[in-house]
Amino acid sequence: MLEMNVRKSFADFTLECEAQFGEGVTAIFGPSGSGKSTLLNSIAGLVRPDEGHIRFGGEALYSSGEGTHVPPDKRKFGYVFQDSALFPHMSVADNIHYGYKLTARNDRRIEPSQLVELLQLGHLMERGVGNLSGGERQRVALARALATFPRLLLLDEPLASLDGGLRGVILGYLKRIRRELGTPMVYVSHSISEVLALADSALVLRDGKVVAFGRASEALVMPEVSAFAQFDTLENLLEAVVIKRYGDEDIAELAIGDAQVIAAGGRRSEGEALTVSIRAGDIIVSRQIPPQTSARNAIKARVSEIHCVDSRVLVYADVGTRIIVEITLSSLEALELKEGTEIYLIIKANSVIPLEGSGSRQDG
Ligand code: ADP
Ligand code: MG
Repeated sequence: MLEMNVRKSFADFTLECEAQFGEGVTAIFGPSGSGKSTLLNSIAGLVRPDEGHIRFGGEALYSSGEGTHVPPDKRKFGYVFQDSALFPHMSVADNIHYGYKLTARNDRRIEPSQLVELLQLGHLMERGVGNLSGGERQRVALARALATFPRLLLLDEPLASLDGGLRGVILGYLKRIRRELGTPMVYVSHSISEVLALADSALVLRDGKVVAFGRASEALVMPEVSAFAQFDTLENLLEAVVIKRYGDEDIAELAIGDAQVIAAGGRRSEGEALTVSIRAGDIIVSRQIPPQTSARNAIKARVSEIHCVDSRVLVYADVGTRIIVEITLSSLEALELKEGTEIYLIIKANSVIPLEGSGSRQDG
């Protein structure tokens, strides 16, 4: 879909990147100053490389040999930044309709009302953009970008200015966009948890060079990446739906993939969709059905992959969705885990943390 080989130099920095991006979500991951934004801006057309080529679906967007440089607005890409600038004197509705009106009738594939529904902006439409919260601004920025029917959505750390809980919530919306609209995305982030939750493939940059590229779950655990990826805080950011509330108790039963999981924070309604966080290090692995413990969850799972990163072992457990568990090398040996092994994930209800601000019903 997107094919590139570019070089761009600044005073004491050079980006060199050769890559092909497919459909789905491709992450550009790397530490600060590694060239992520320079790469994304080259794709957007905001930065003109010194040398090389960029093609999208066979169309030349940039070619140093032929002197081609298609300007950003002619690339038909959408763009969302960390702090997206909305049109300040317009309402939310006008911000979203702006791009829609500029798009040729034949190129319009969805109605703005569908975007408003998808991103749950209905109650905000008449508001001025000056009094929106950070999370609301990013949802409006996403809707505005999508209203132009982009061939590709470019996202530069869109969650970086939001607090922890809200990041998971917006991430949930990005998953919905991927699932319901199928818009391909290039997603810049320095959060390994976000990238593992969202991306199909990942390109890892360090000092302007590609150090790993491939399926996200494999590329991110390469030894070249572990030096700066923060695995100690790795969390699973998972989509969940409330299936049952327990009267006055502050707990609820959630569907996560095929699993039923008891979580703390019961003041939610049945049918509500939310994003939950479970730290990889907060999960215990057992080979047998555990005897009764104080932990509320013993979830049957199957080992799908095992990756060793330095002294850590990441076990990818399949429960209809992927849950990553961190164990030690000695546990791996003691439990004799292999691909395909059936295991039980023991998780305390308090370790399943509903991320705030989602409050959405799952009805599409
Ligand atoms: P990242 O997004 O990964 O943090 P950037 O692509 O923004 O990294 O920057 C990579 C390097 O290029 C940094 O050292 C930065 O200072 C430098 N750089 C980026 N843009 C410019 C510019 N317009 N002029 C000079 N140096 C720049
Ligand atoms: Mg950047």
